[in-house]
Amino acid sequence: MQVPFLNLPQQTEALRTEIDAAFDAILKRCDFVGGEAVRQFEAAFAEFCGTQFAVGVSNGTDAIYLALRALGIGPGDEVITVPNTFIGTTAPITRTGARLRFVDVNPHTLNIDVQKIEKAITPKTRAIVPVHLYGQPADMEAILHIAREHDLLVIEDAAQAHGALYRSKVVGGFGQMACFSFYPGKNLGAFGDAGAVVTNDEALAEKVRILRDSGRISKYEHVEEGFNHRLDTLQAAVLSIKLKHLPRWNQRRRDIAARYRKHFAEHEAIQPVTEPEGFEGVYHLFVVQVLERDRVQTRLADAGIQTGIHYPIPLHLQPAYRYLGYRQGDFPVSETAAERLLSLPIFPEMTDAMVDYVAEQLIRAVS
Ligand SMILES: *Cc1c(COP(=O)(O)O)cnc(C)c1O
Repeated sequence: MQVPFLNLPQQTEALRTEIDAAFDAILKRCDFVGGEAVRQFEAAFAEFCGTQFAVGVSNGTDAIYLALRALGIGPGDEVITVPNTFIGTTAPITRTGARLRFVDVNPHTLNIDVQKIEKAITPKTRAIVPVHLYGQPADMEAILHIAREHDLLVIEDAAQAHGALYRSKVVGGFGQMACFSFYPGKNLGAFGDAGAVVTNDEALAEKVRILRDSGRISKYEHVEEGFNHRLDTLQAAVLSIKLKHLPRWNQRRRDIAARYRKHFAEHEAIQPVTEPEGFEGVYHLFVVQVLERDRVQTRLADAGIQTGIHYPIPLHLQPAYRYLGYRQGDFPVSETAAERLLSLPIFPEMTDAMVDYVAEQLIRAVS
């Protein structure tokens, strides 16, 4: 059996008729930038997130940059986040002129270890960027408590977590702002790059709208030097169509995760990332920790199973962040996890037979 890591052609083909019709309408109107489809998607996505506003932008990395800029974060500020994430979380922090401060992750959830946040707070700290990694919410109650105590802003990186629930509330509305990516492989993916910022604050939403669009308030009136971080109209149309299917797709991902967990329940050598009580992830990735990960990954590849590693090098050890002065041993949980992490195939079109096959092959590979 061959099991791909995800199957976008299958998902795209199933939506072909709907997408053809939507594209046809746009090709007739030719409103390619800032068109009707963008406004429609923004309204639908805000409703999905339970927030008042959503602003479509060019990608998830830009979403984080624009959110931080709208909140006035810049030179002289420090922003706290985790080393176990994609660099799209951290590069926009640095781009504002702020300095990164890492906090290690919890060994069971691999999301920010809330016990370790306070030690990283300095008089310069302005914000925390919790990442809902793998589609699993960060511990928002604890994070919001710390943020209130220390007067910090919270910007959620929800790039992997469209629709994830934390104590029955969908992620995106916990912080001042939340950022999403619609990179093709995300749970909600466009036909290219796309992203969004959501918020309940009208003034912040307006700031992001201005910042994403050359800093303008009318066609040629610029309140600041802005850049082009807009969401394409064609992408918005794709996203509106896919959004209608997202709850069903997320449910299928959860069912697959439950099936994997059942298989691994009696196999100590396979440790899936835990889902604490009250957390309902959307399983952008199904991640397990195993010893001799590279050997196991090769065994699975030989059995026709594609896997991934998210992420093989913690950010504090990346050459790009050498200037921050962190060293091996600074964030031991992230470092150990990086050696053991293995992301198994999970996508809505995956069959039960595929899940069973992957589980059986993994159990064989670790024994
Ligand atoms: C995908 C991703 C981003 C960046 O999104 P892009 O759309 O690729 O720019 C940021 N953070 C996390 C956690 C991501 O997974």
